[in-house]
Amino acid sequence: MQLHFLGTSSGSPSLSRNMSATAVSFEKSKSWLLVDCGEATQHQLLKSDLSPYHLSVICISHLHGDHCYGLPGLLASMAMSGRQAPVHLIAPQAVIQFVMSTLAVTQVALPFNLYTMAIEQNDQLICFEFCKVEIITLKHRVPSYGFKVTETDIPRKLRVSQLANDGVESGPHYNLLQKGQDVDFAGRRLLADTYAFPSWQPRVAIICGDNEKPALLSPYCADVDMLVHEATFTHSDLMRVGTHTGHSDAKRVAQFAQQKNVSTLILTHFSVRYHGEGMLDALEQEARAYFQGTLHLAYDSLVVTIPKRLLSE
Ligand SMILES: [Zn+2]
Repeated sequence: MQLHFLGTSSGSPSLSRNMSATAVSFEKSKSWLLVDCGEATQHQLLKSDLSPYHLSVICISHLHGDHCYGLPGLLASMAMSGRQAPVHLIAPQAVIQFVMSTLAVTQVALPFNLYTMAIEQNDQLICFEFCKVEIITLKHRVPSYGFKVTETDIPRKLRVSQLANDGVESGPHYNLLQKGQDVDFAGRRLLADTYAFPSWQPRVAIICGDNEKPALLSPYCADVDMLVHEATFTHSDLMRVGTHTGHSDAKRVAQFAQQKNVSTLILTHFSVRYHGEGMLDALEQEARAYFQGTLHLAYDSLVVTIPKRLLSE
């Protein structure tokens, strides 16, 4: 499972950073997931290993343009490439309205199904074949959300010794148990969860939209491998600019991540004031002063692999 940083700027782009977009790709599936789609995200994709052809789930955190202006263009290009597989869009209702009306006004007919799920009207947990997505309510100037993404397509291994101990001889039912299906064998019901187990611990990442209150993530952090959160400003700059912006500073996020024992924290969504050579140093020093885990300051084209934690019988 990998996180691909396609855009790491806040508000507007610079020559080195585009606006918000983060992709999640998976070990066993070609399908991938996109969180936010700032303007020109499709250009960023051209520079990545990701193909829009396999983009399956799109999550948009909030309706500010730096998080969604790229979506109509990306969908229009996917339409032109002849894509047919369905796409799922999870977003606030207003974002869905923006996308659908832009496509309608510009006369784009999608040749694939776009299944839209308004966050306000949906369950908090949405399951797909390759992952599940849990929606987290954040705090910003407009309703904003985070997405907890858990991989679900993990190869399973048989508990061979337990099968032998229980007198279950090998046969086609081994294959079914390994695939997760319960089977009837010699008058007995064999449960897949008893005789097979996932090869590794499901990997989990939380990718947040804009958020001034990291503490809202508290209930979701216990099993998380990586937390991706905005740090638009340093603490002193945020105090100067004003808390009305609804953003976080590096100190606030780092303190929260430390308190929750998050192992890897990735900061992103940096104000353009920090885009020059060496300008992120202050943000990094501030975060390191409060957070002792693994820290990344994202840049456009950064790819971070979440390592597997293998499970044994
Ligand atoms: Zn933003």
